[in-house]
Amino acid sequence: MRRTLYYGVSQSTLISTPTVKIYKRGADRIKSGHVWVYRSDVLNADGIPPGALVKVADERGKFLASAFYSTASQIAVRVLSREPVSDLQTLLRQRIADAIAYRERVVSHTDAYRVIFSEADFLPGLIVDRYNDLLSFQVLTQAMDSKVVRDTFLAELTTRLTPAAIAERVDPRIRELEQLSPGSSGLVAGQKSSTTFTMNGIRLNYDALAGQKTGAFLDQRENYSAAAQYARGKALDVFCYHGGFALHLAPHCNSVTGVDSSRPALEVADQNAALNQREVEWIEANAFDLLRDYAAQGPQYDVVVLDPPAFAKSRRELDSALRGYKELNLRALKLLRPGGILVTCSCSYHVSPAAFLEVVADSARDVHRNLRLLENRGQAKDHPILLNVPETAYLKCLIFLVS
Ligand code: SAH
Repeated sequence: MRRTLYYGVSQSTLISTPTVKIYKRGADRIKSGHVWVYRSDVLNADGIPPGALVKVADERGKFLASAFYSTASQIAVRVLSREPVSDLQTLLRQRIADAIAYRERVVSHTDAYRVIFSEADFLPGLIVDRYNDLLSFQVLTQAMDSKVVRDTFLAELTTRLTPAAIAERVDPRIRELEQLSPGSSGLVAGQKSSTTFTMNGIRLNYDALAGQKTGAFLDQRENYSAAAQYARGKALDVFCYHGGFALHLAPHCNSVTGVDSSRPALEVADQNAALNQREVEWIEANAFDLLRDYAAQGPQYDVVVLDPPAFAKSRRELDSALRGYKELNLRALKLLRPGGILVTCSCSYHVSPAAFLEVVADSARDVHRNLRLLENRGQAKDHPILLNVPETAYLKCLIFLVS
């Protein structure tokens, strides 16, 4: 049966915080520093409403943590604090202030960055991005969707960042999995839905009501400038989306081509090129087909960037994902002239850094090329990696010199 949820964390649940009892395996997980407890590790959560703030206790009733509870997700418990929480709203406001202060320390050369990265900012289930004067957010859990919590984080973000507008981005699949009422993307404050932002001196368009994910791929910001350092000659940006890599490479190269299968993405990429007065050739194509055709023509590029979508969305897809990465990297290597640069990325959490390196090593062996690793990189620092929560580290970006 489908339920529509309007309650979640309410004032009354704050007064008498209910307790979720968990089995030893879940308790050990929390003690190991992780912040999730799976439903199969829950011993008793009878009568606890969706999205409630709960105390988490072991089988004997010993307090372990304060957490948000979901009645629907396989991740039943997401730890909020290792201490009892008496005033949730004050805690949320403090976490937002801390997240913003962290960005002030680690983010530079941009007015677009991730302001809140869910578990890694101790705000499980909330993603907030800033694009110049616009904020975009996504809620991933029952608790973050409850009225009290939404009102609290929206008010705090507004006070601290004074955006012209705030847009909510809805992923219908996530709302369905969390048994949340189906919502739609749109502005929740202000009137403005598009803007331009700047990163590393490159200007880019942002439309809060279009695009994939929460807009641009902000996690690649530091990798764009790293790749640009080595760029020269003729460059190919495969899976270019709005042209993030291509536009960073353009000032250093004689020619740049961006490839993507999405026409709307390429239209924005073309507008971005115009905004920066750059000439980039955009090709709408399936990257696998295009690379196969180009590889048959032999080495012709000095830089190839590969930044495909996540091939492994679950562990089950790992083998086929690795085959996909192998094929792409193999073909990219065939395209590169001696002395060329390969920038190869994977945003699949399930593909470990070691497995990804191994795929590239395998590809290099097959095509008899020597690769020297110039940089072994990950996501930009506004997407913090929380140690003991491996799921917060997902992006891999390797830069090789190919001979
Ligand atoms: N490099 C980009 C982000 C890439 S996201 C940046 O820095 O902003 C992955 C992109 O791959 C998306 O734009 C998607 O449209 C594109 N894509 C997915 N499958 C594809 C395929 N088979 N061939 C070409 N592009 C594809």
